[in-house]
Amino acid sequence: MADIQGKVVVITGASSGIGATTAKALAKQGAAVVLGARRKDRLDTLVKEIEADGGRAVAVACDVTKRGDLVVLVEAGVKAFGKVDVLLNNAGIMPLSPMSELRVEEWDETIDVNVKGVLYGIAAALPIFEKQGSGHFINVSSVAGIRTFPSAAVYCGSKWAVGAITETLRQEVAAKNIRTTVILPGAISTELGNSIHHQETAEALAGFLTIAVSPQCIADAIAFAIGQPANVGVHEIVVRPSVQT
Ligand code: NDP
Repeated sequence: MADIQGKVVVITGASSGIGATTAKALAKQGAAVVLGARRKDRLDTLVKEIEADGGRAVAVACDVTKRGDLVVLVEAGVKAFGKVDVLLNNAGIMPLSPMSELRVEEWDETIDVNVKGVLYGIAAALPIFEKQGSGHFINVSSVAGIRTFPSAAVYCGSKWAVGAITETLRQEVAAKNIRTTVILPGAISTELGNSIHHQETAEALAGFLTIAVSPQCIADAIAFAIGQPANVGVHEIVVRPSVQT
């Protein structure tokens, strides 16, 4: 049984899908959770749900494309609960389209949220982890971080980057008692598809997502990684529907 009790976990993208489900699951297992996303109303509702269930949570409005927002989010963990054990860099968008559509603004947004957002999270938490002498980065990549798919060039690029950044970080900070984990989900039922504005691609994805499974399996994988003894690193977990090829 994973030991989550008393851990302080900061979560980006906690307003829906994998982030919200993981927040509830970890709080149920005794973690104090710090919830970040832009939709603060959703976070406030989630805090109420967690507290009603006997858990501990605080919410902070956070846009991961703004470096200062991540500083405020991570520091909120220290302020509210005295430390930060885990930063779950989970916020992400997936506005897929063929490259020939030249949706360059969406390419920019994808890199800003999925790559720079993760880097800003690392920049905010790393000094705190170094000072504490412990910490754990959990970065959410994707099966699109180990494979490529037509219409997903920039999304795949962003998720491959998350894997490369996390593995390099692991090599640099392992000796400092700072752990890293990359989570690579397959098709999961969430709101992620709503960020696709290219009609044909949105329809193709909707067909593919009929096999999608509940975000609870990702929450369970994250809880497993967090709950291992301090001298055990869980570096990569791929979780996808058993029928996904
Ligand atoms: P959702 O769309 O349900 O959740 C995405 C979350 O990211 C929301 O909470 C959203 O909050 C947040 N977010 C988006 N942009 C920003 C921003 N600029 N600043 C802060 N938060 C932001 O999708 P998922 O739960 O599926 O996605 C979570 C992660 O899982 C993503 O990194 C995604 O790439 C990854 N993933 C998902 C898969 C799936 O099949 N669902 C498969 C593989 C990976 P708000 O809008 O309130 O800011």
